[in-house]
Amino acid sequence: EMFGQLTSGLETAWNKLKGEEVLSKENIVEPMRDIRRALLEADVSLPVVRRFVQSVSDQAVGVGVIRGVRPDQQLVKIVHEELVQLMGGEVSELVFAKSGPTVILLAGLQGVGKTTVCAKLANYLKKQGKSCMLVAGDVYRPAAIDQLAILGKQVDVPVYTAGTDVKPSEIAKQGLEEAKKKKIDVVIVDTAGRLQIDKTMMDELKEVKKALNPTEVLLVVDAMTGQEAAALVTTFNLEIGITGAILTKLDGDSRGGAALSVKEVSGKPIKLVGRGERMEDLEPFYPDRMAGRILGMGDVLSFVEKAQQVMRQEDAEELQKKIMSAKFDFNDFLKQTRTVAKMGSVSRVIGMIPGMGKVTPAQIRDAEKNLLNMEAMIEAMTPGLFFLLINDVTSVE
Ligand code: GDP
Repeated sequence: EMFGQLTSGLETAWNKLKGEEVLSKENIVEPMRDIRRALLEADVSLPVVRRFVQSVSDQAVGVGVIRGVRPDQQLVKIVHEELVQLMGGEVSELVFAKSGPTVILLAGLQGVGKTTVCAKLANYLKKQGKSCMLVAGDVYRPAAIDQLAILGKQVDVPVYTAGTDVKPSEIAKQGLEEAKKKKIDVVIVDTAGRLQIDKTMMDELKEVKKALNPTEVLLVVDAMTGQEAAALVTTFNLEIGITGAILTKLDGDSRGGAALSVKEVSGKPIKLVGRGERMEDLEPFYPDRMAGRILGMGDVLSFVEKAQQVMRQEDAEELQKKIMSAKFDFNDFLKQTRTVAKMGSVSRVIGMIPGMGKVTPAQIRDAEKNLLNMEAMIEAMTPGLFFLLINDVTSVE
């Protein structure tokens, strides 16, 4: 399952905060250690993990209390925001040429899914109303040319081939000319992959790039290779200059190290992700959705966001002081209950909490009734009665 291992690794961190009232320098030590371990096990590169953990710790200690939100939920929110930033923040869109065909050059090692990506990308762009053409530039493997032709037919996109005797940069130029004649919007050029980086491959790529002056140069990397994928993006960028990466086989990646490391390590964004073998399985890389998926937190994030909006900062500071000095009383409890009420009915709030799907409507109605009763009771109480209640005077000898 996608990111499954990372998700459960992080869960241990939230669980350590159950029962706490605020995030403090002391009580985040253990959870931060869990987060660090989870990220390292996910194969995120060490410097990235260090920066991440430091930044989350700093924010966690400084964060105020949000009424109705537990500290573990607050930490989830901070980690989420930091994950989004780590993956580049915004979605990084493909760039298109202002005039003439847009040329997308694809590079990548053998077996990463580059040929598949060519056809998937054409299929994806076609759905946006763009006409596409594939160019078979992998002259070393006749099978690769055949495979591209078959996939092109499958997605109904023309494939330009010139056999194996022509130089890749020459094939690329010819293909581009053909596309111009046919007024094609996007030309996607496949290039030869190798099992490992070698000079011949790099030189050839440089030559093809020079011949085409492409709008996008995208490196296709395999998510299963973890932080190695990020290192490859860095190397290719330094060698030939790329505009971004396409991360394939995300459907089989339970760890997430590549998705989390590429941008931070290489400075280049992941633009698209492959999530299966079908032609439809290619989509933009949305950092916020990825982060949400990693946390596996349903709508806890929107719950915390809403609570943040509802809460007034001065109230929060007052509340925090009270909790710290153990002067949290029933009136504060009442205020907090009402803050939750402002967020919608109990059933809506419960619906936002993962794992609460099994609560029956009858139970929710009971909870709502109980809240109302409790409000009425507290409002009817005098301070004296309060004192008796909270000090449990019946047990005093
Ligand atoms: P190339 O050598 O880089 O051109 O790799 P191919 O395009 O031939 O793909 C290698 C294998 O990976 C094929 O069996 C593909 O079906 C498979 N593959 C490619 N992309 C994905 C993906 O996103 N998810 C999964 N599960 N398999 C993929």
